[in-house]
Amino acid sequence: MEFETVIGLEVHAQLLTRSKMFCGCSAEYAGAEPNTHVCPVCLGLPGSLPVINRQAVVSTVMTGLALNCRIPPYSKFDRKNYMYPDLMKGYQISQYDLPLCVEGYLEFQHDGQRKRVGIRRVHLEEDTARLVHRTWNGTGYSLVDVNRSGVPLIEIVTEPDLRSPEEARAFLMALRQVLRYLGVSTANMEEGAFRCDANISQRSLDGSVVGPKVEIKNMNSFRSVERALAYEVERQRSALRRGEPLVQETRGWLEDQEITVSQRTKEYAEDYRYFPEPDLPPIFLTETDLVEIRARMPELPLTRFERFVRDYALGAAEAGLLTEERAVADYFEACVQGDREIARQAANWITGELFALMRERVVDIDGVGVRPGQLRQLIELVRRGTINALTAKEVLVAVSETGQDPDAIVAERGLAQVSDEAQLRAVVQRVIEQNPKAVADYRRGKGAAIGFLLGQVMKDLRGRANPAVARKLLEETLGAPVE
Ligand SMILES: [Zn+2]
Repeated sequence: MEFETVIGLEVHAQLLTRSKMFCGCSAEYAGAEPNTHVCPVCLGLPGSLPVINRQAVVSTVMTGLALNCRIPPYSKFDRKNYMYPDLMKGYQISQYDLPLCVEGYLEFQHDGQRKRVGIRRVHLEEDTARLVHRTWNGTGYSLVDVNRSGVPLIEIVTEPDLRSPEEARAFLMALRQVLRYLGVSTANMEEGAFRCDANISQRSLDGSVVGPKVEIKNMNSFRSVERALAYEVERQRSALRRGEPLVQETRGWLEDQEITVSQRTKEYAEDYRYFPEPDLPPIFLTETDLVEIRARMPELPLTRFERFVRDYALGAAEAGLLTEERAVADYFEACVQGDREIARQAANWITGELFALMRERVVDIDGVGVRPGQLRQLIELVRRGTINALTAKEVLVAVSETGQDPDAIVAERGLAQVSDEAQLRAVVQRVIEQNPKAVADYRRGKGAAIGFLLGQVMKDLRGRANPAVARKLLEETLGAPVE
């Protein structure tokens, strides 16, 4: 029996705001001493009152607009009641029936094709405290760190539009890219700022068999999402083929064993009781508010990618590399300044030499020490023939180390290319005299020998020879090879 996989995702992303969702505590708690970013509100003490963080609402609406959502004019907060030690008040302030954003979609590139995944809703809530589990004398106990409690969190729920683990991973990466372009979240999965749960089921292509929906939790990287889902596809398909019962349940991914295990079945499914939050006013959003928020949004990754391909005549792979991060795309455009003529060279330099320097020094493009204008100057120097491509690489490294402009480095270090025929002819003559074997090889028809001789000319001039002129002079002096 042939099956199709059906996957829907629930993503939680922490918002990058200065203060927490409902109080004035700093939301930047990473590395802080436990329980130092707390106050009566986020500790859930009786009598304390929450206040809505305006920036968190703006960031959520921005995310919704980027995900092509409809933004209803009226939205409210609700209390989601459940008992767990990481929940200070015994309920979480979240949104139930009237979320900030609904009915959107995200388009992204996967396998060279454009894929569209529906977004059911984006709502705003607060993060919970963090539990740290320890053991002492063989007895387990847990510590509670309330610093994370109350940090603004958005939940993004997709429609079940994904058809494979690879596609789910590609979607998550595209979503992360959008959040980072917007600057609303670091969306860093390893640091817990971007978390994903997945619903996955199987159905036979003829529609006769539909397996139950299984929820997968505890996936802490893009790789583990893909692997956990791939494991589930196999587990569910083989059970269905053998006629074994499958149940609707929640399963956890065990990273070290690379399996999923049952955590709870349907009879213990969460029974949250939601109530409207009486301590917070509803949120009214006008057309004017939406126009203002839209005006603050940057060009989104897919649009930018397509514009780069179209306007700069770049290949899909190159445009993809350049638009993966907004800072790199900005750098590219600051260098090119609308000049299509140098777009190709700029793309080569950035994805080649600059990316190599970034990897080597573990810095981002702003930390590499070459300003966009300096790269442009370097490209101009090569284009005008002042320096050759080989020297240009040396100059680029020098720029990144000293901060000096390429012009100054070329002048100071005497790196200008030697194109003068008289000067080059003298060197060519000397190289021919000193390398009789290569000359003989060339004359016997070994064309590759000219590369060696050209290399010797370059070496003699510390890499500054104009390669085209030097080759022409070598060929003239040696004459045509004898067959
Ligand atoms: Zn607080």
